[in-house]
Amino acid sequence: MNYHHYDYSNPTSQRILQEFEHRHASVFEQAKTRWNVRTREFLREIIRVRLLDSGPELYGGKAAPIPVAISLRPDNNGQFLRLVDAYYPRLDFLEFIRMRAFLDAAAPVQPDFQHPEAPTEAFAATLDYARQVAGRFQLEEVISTLFTQMFQEGNDVFGSYLLRDSRIELYYVPLLVFATLRQIDPAALYAVVLAHELAHAYTHVGRDIDGRYWQGFAHADLYVAEGLAQYYTERFVQHYPELEPAYRTLLAAQSGPYLAHLAWHPRYDHETVRRTLIETRRHPQPLSLPEFEAHLVRTQRGSTVPVAQTI
Ligand SMILES: [Zn+2]
Repeated sequence: MNYHHYDYSNPTSQRILQEFEHRHASVFEQAKTRWNVRTREFLREIIRVRLLDSGPELYGGKAAPIPVAISLRPDNNGQFLRLVDAYYPRLDFLEFIRMRAFLDAAAPVQPDFQHPEAPTEAFAATLDYARQVAGRFQLEEVISTLFTQMFQEGNDVFGSYLLRDSRIELYYVPLLVFATLRQIDPAALYAVVLAHELAHAYTHVGRDIDGRYWQGFAHADLYVAEGLAQYYTERFVQHYPELEPAYRTLLAAQSGPYLAHLAWHPRYDHETVRRTLIETRRHPQPLSLPEFEAHLVRTQRGSTVPVAQTI
């Protein structure tokens, strides 16, 4: 898909596509440099798997690294750009957010414009105009339409883990639009989404102590696969609290399979989740979410010291 024809109506989409290289690209490049290696190190340690294929018959006894390449693209085959054009062809997201911020800032100043020398009418007209622009849409409705409903269907709106060749794509148009609407740091949002996609890669092709990986990943229950990616994203964010606001803000806009992990923490410790994941990967049939959660309960019980011994 060629995004550079700029045949999208929405003014924000157009501007992002036109200005990306000189305005935003470096922000994401720096975020990748900052977070890529430390995310991989964290996942390797907490899941205890490695992106290293040590099948001796295949590589003559040598371990071969499993590269998980990361690329940045405008959108996932234009799905977000088309959605924006379908619902909000003329909404300038940045202007909308600035007008809302202006109204918030103007509210406490209003009494000062009662002063006899103040340009009262001009101020009232300015407020009217800002209210008109900001009032055309409801922010929560925009977020629900563009993001929450997409997540409900299991769409990775901001990034994809392409399991056939174990590579990751992140999508800068939805990342920048969401960061604008919620007023969060796009670099932190990028880091959170990168952690989610890398968690898919580590849970899928990361080799355990026996050199095994998740062969049935393509058929895994969406709630289990996304739940695990979210679970490890949350563990990562806890380790790096500077990412917490971006993670919480994103989570509030998510739904369906992207919330499955909330039932696991803190009820199960991360070693229980890890052992359940390793067992799930070895299971010949894909486990449904209730089956996976039953496994969590059994694993937790198995690792609990009997009450009598703790007294
Ligand atoms: Zn995902």
